[in-house]
Amino acid sequence: MKTLRKLVSAIMATTLFFTSAINVTAAQPNTTNDVKVATSTANSEFRGAWFSTVYNRDWLSSASIGVQQQKNDYINKVDKLKAAGFNSVIFQIRSMGDGLYPSKYVTWSKYLTGTAGNNPGYDPLAFALQEAQKRDLEFHAWFNPFRISADPNFNVNDYISKLPSSSPLKQHPEWIVKYSGTSTYHWLNLGIPEARQYVIDTIMEVVENYDIDGIHMDDYFYPYPVYAANDSKVDFPDNEAFTKYKGSFTNKADWRRNNVNTFVKELAAKIRAKKPSVKIGISPFGIWKNSKNEGGAGTNGISSYYDLYVDSKAFINNEWIDYIVPQIYWSMSYSIADYDVLVDWWSQQVAGKNVQLYIGQAAYKINAGGSDTAWTNSQEIINQIKYNRKNSNVKGSVFYSASDILANKLGVYDALKNDLYKSPASTPQMPWKQPANEGPKVPTNVKISSFTADKVTPQKLNTIINFNGVVTGAKNPQYRYSINDGSGWQVLQGYSSNSAFKWIPNAKGNYKIRLEVREKGSPNQYDDMKEIYYVIKGLYSVTIDPGHGGSDMGAISMYNDYEKHINLPIALTVRDILESRGLDVHMTRVGDEYVTLEDRVKFANSLKTDIFVSIHNNSFSKEEVNGIESFYFKSSVKGKELAEKVQKSLIEQTNANNRGAKVGDYYVLRHTNMPAILIEGGFLSNKAELAKLKTKAYQDKLSYAIAYGILDYFNVNREDVNRDSKIDLKDLAAVSAKYNTKRGDSSWSNASDVNNDNVVDLYDLVLISKQMK
Ligand SMILES: [Zn+2]
Repeated sequence: MKTLRKLVSAIMATTLFFTSAINVTAAQPNTTNDVKVATSTANSEFRGAWFSTVYNRDWLSSASIGVQQQKNDYINKVDKLKAAGFNSVIFQIRSMGDGLYPSKYVTWSKYLTGTAGNNPGYDPLAFALQEAQKRDLEFHAWFNPFRISADPNFNVNDYISKLPSSSPLKQHPEWIVKYSGTSTYHWLNLGIPEARQYVIDTIMEVVENYDIDGIHMDDYFYPYPVYAANDSKVDFPDNEAFTKYKGSFTNKADWRRNNVNTFVKELAAKIRAKKPSVKIGISPFGIWKNSKNEGGAGTNGISSYYDLYVDSKAFINNEWIDYIVPQIYWSMSYSIADYDVLVDWWSQQVAGKNVQLYIGQAAYKINAGGSDTAWTNSQEIINQIKYNRKNSNVKGSVFYSASDILANKLGVYDALKNDLYKSPASTPQMPWKQPANEGPKVPTNVKISSFTADKVTPQKLNTIINFNGVVTGAKNPQYRYSINDGSGWQVLQGYSSNSAFKWIPNAKGNYKIRLEVREKGSPNQYDDMKEIYYVIKGLYSVTIDPGHGGSDMGAISMYNDYEKHINLPIALTVRDILESRGLDVHMTRVGDEYVTLEDRVKFANSLKTDIFVSIHNNSFSKEEVNGIESFYFKSSVKGKELAEKVQKSLIEQTNANNRGAKVGDYYVLRHTNMPAILIEGGFLSNKAELAKLKTKAYQDKLSYAIAYGILDYFNVNREDVNRDSKIDLKDLAAVSAKYNTKRGDSSWSNASDVNNDNVVDLYDLVLISKQMK
């Protein structure tokens, strides 16, 4: 299974690269010699920038510039990010209890027009999203969920009066608390369950109304501590809520952490039930806990756990989120909170979890002064990216913030564009985000009228296969392509207006390619869906050589049984089993015909198959001699290995007398250019063994044993490619008959179109064998 998974990820990387890259040939890994090919991590990498709208930081540059200029400003910025190789934007749509979109729950942001509650005359969220989609940039909607204001002159009554009348907060101003010291915040009280639910509803409004790729929250749920004039920490004013809602909690800090956890957990459940494709991301403060004794990284800063009540590790461990972006805003030489120490620590936390790790990079610190002089050198952030890439658990970066990158401080924008981000990358796939047919579906008229693929027979490794979908009933159809190798669906091309898809398989196997289509903005996972089945052959190739044939009988038993007639059916079944596992199999003969030894060897050598397996049965003058033996050429290390694997498997399956794997000086071993073995399956001169060898059951046993030994040698799983049910290939003949009928089934017409090479379709086999039982 391990091998297969590695292979699949290799495919993903190549394919992704192909669909977006220009220099295709350079990206194709050589799979002929090493199947566990390492592909560059840069082909799939999250490359994001935070677009902060609070205080008009990254967008829009000023509230007073007018709508057209606001739009141009954004277009200009996303164009530049796209040109530098970015593939994602994280766009702040609520910073201060407000919104950049029309809402039932919150008021218009003052950063749009200069005045809270004023309608800017267009929907900035819809606009920003659309422009991102046009550029194939992932769009994550960023919320500061609980902050209402950071303005000391904030007036609660004024704020409440501007809320839409449909907003529950309008009836509950008591959900807002004032947290004041030398600075002043107004904050929604997370301790009140109804207030948390209100925030969830406000986020779900966006999830439901917009075709966003993700929702995103950053480091604070509770505010950063406020200090009094005497430098003492002011406690967040939630005593009343604590008394009322503490339940079994005795410690207020634990209760607050639980409030944050409950919020994240409930929000995730809502989003996953409603729109499972939406990614959920959180960008916590870069330090969870300091102390190594408590599992921290040994740093010395403030910590999200104690100072912000954010147990970011719990988000990962419970997989409430799909990605995490710790803000590691320190240099690699900053001893208090060392960048590389923290990257290593976070990478350990996500290991084995369905949560991807991207690093929050401090672009705002580049040459910005401050005590850490490392930031005066452009190499600091460049080295950080390079450091990330050495760690396979780090799947990308998000820069804070967009304008700091676009300003090309110390040439960092250029360094990304011309070097680090030069070859395009897609955002990393999240296999767990691809549920098949889930969620209640809203009926639409959108239909796939045709879904076609190149007819390449047989489908070979590293061949470009073109897929194309045609859709009716949609004004603005969006297409998404996914692949399943048996271990689950993975999106290879997210929803876009591109109806075509190119795939270069670089691992053999049995695949389904799925096309999903939907009208842009459709609430459905898809409006219509079709699948094409592909068998990709050729990762490993085998020559199977059934001994003797035609005028050459081979050994002849005392009852006049010919060896050639026993060798052939065993060999043919070996072929069937190996092909069903996706190997390329070539036969030196498939009928009762005479082939010279020289021709057998030439055949294999010209095909350059990976191995050569000659199948024979034995005879000896002494009747009592019996058992199985396998031969290899004396100087062939790989041949020896193959013979030993096959011999071992033969004895395990048959319990026959083990005559061992040994050196044999046979023509076909001597003259073949690849690891070669010759198997003697049993003695026709031994009565008992002969009786068995003549039965189909024992022949099949030998076939399985030989095939399994070969699969072991290639480190390919014996079971058929990761399927959930085992297929009893002894039923192959019966199944094949049904299979041919099945092929007439119109719902599989595409499958039979592209799969006309007589390779048995394993998906169908599973289906049919289940029906037969
Ligand atoms: Zn023979």
